[in-house]
Amino acid sequence: MTLRAESIAPLFPAPPVTRFAPSPTGYLHLGHVVNAIFVWGVARALGGRVLLRVEDHDRIRSRAPFEAALLDDLDWLGFAPDEGRDPVVRQSDRAARYETALARLRARADVYACDCSRREIGGERYAGRCRARALTEGPGRGIRVVLDDGPERFDDLALGALEQTPAAQCGDLLVKDRDGHWTYQFAVTVDDIADRVDLVIRGADLIASTGRQIKLARMLGRSVPPRFLHHPLIIREDGEKLSKADGDAGVRELRAAGVSAPEVIGRAAAAVGLLDRPHPVRAADVSRLVLS
Ligand code: GLU
Repeated sequence: MTLRAESIAPLFPAPPVTRFAPSPTGYLHLGHVVNAIFVWGVARALGGRVLLRVEDHDRIRSRAPFEAALLDDLDWLGFAPDEGRDPVVRQSDRAARYETALARLRARADVYACDCSRREIGGERYAGRCRARALTEGPGRGIRVVLDDGPERFDDLALGALEQTPAAQCGDLLVKDRDGHWTYQFAVTVDDIADRVDLVIRGADLIASTGRQIKLARMLGRSVPPRFLHHPLIIREDGEKLSKADGDAGVRELRAAGVSAPEVIGRAAAAVGLLDRPHPVRAADVSRLVLS
């Protein structure tokens, strides 16, 4: 999948701001490298900026050693962010920002406490059991916001015109979980607004989140949503998507085995069809992999 520069460039009269937003819940793997190729490739081609954001909103699964390793591998690969590297920008340092956003949400929407567990909810959609219970907020209780049942439409730069109806997909959106952590959906939406991100580039596994993030952003006062580009994922031979458990795809392991940074980038590019067969590509040259 190569994007055509002449159809994308006119969408950004001003150079875009995008982000690379890894969660420090594992080591950097080839799937992250694919994401970095698209993020830096598109940003650099359009003269845009890349913000690094460590998405450690989940305080149970996030680990400092993973963060250190992610940053080190990213430096080694040669992907240098324009902001967020020194000092490192982390969601865990932004509690005040999220509290302010939650207060804003309360003023504009119905927000309620919820004590349902993931197990009780079962599938993905929350049916609204706690909506009318008027529980007080506190330990062991999450916070949800009521979503209107309207659809969201957006033009994905890779996938074309899409429509999603968040209320039907997920029901009232969880903002804070029962352990008191800000959720991915909430933290990412608040940060993309506050950091003025106007181009979100991420893997197609996050496509279902996009309508809810657009809706939530509007509820928080953002009238023009960012543009979105959801790129292909590396699919393993058994048809599953690559995960952190796939050690053979770990950048650490490849480094230790003597594979060079451009070779790692080339392997990641070939794994999603950006190259017919792997050959070394420097981080500074990734624009030509994704844009023609
Ligand atoms: N932190 C997310 C992840 O590592 C990415 C979030 C996003 O790009 O919206 O999967």
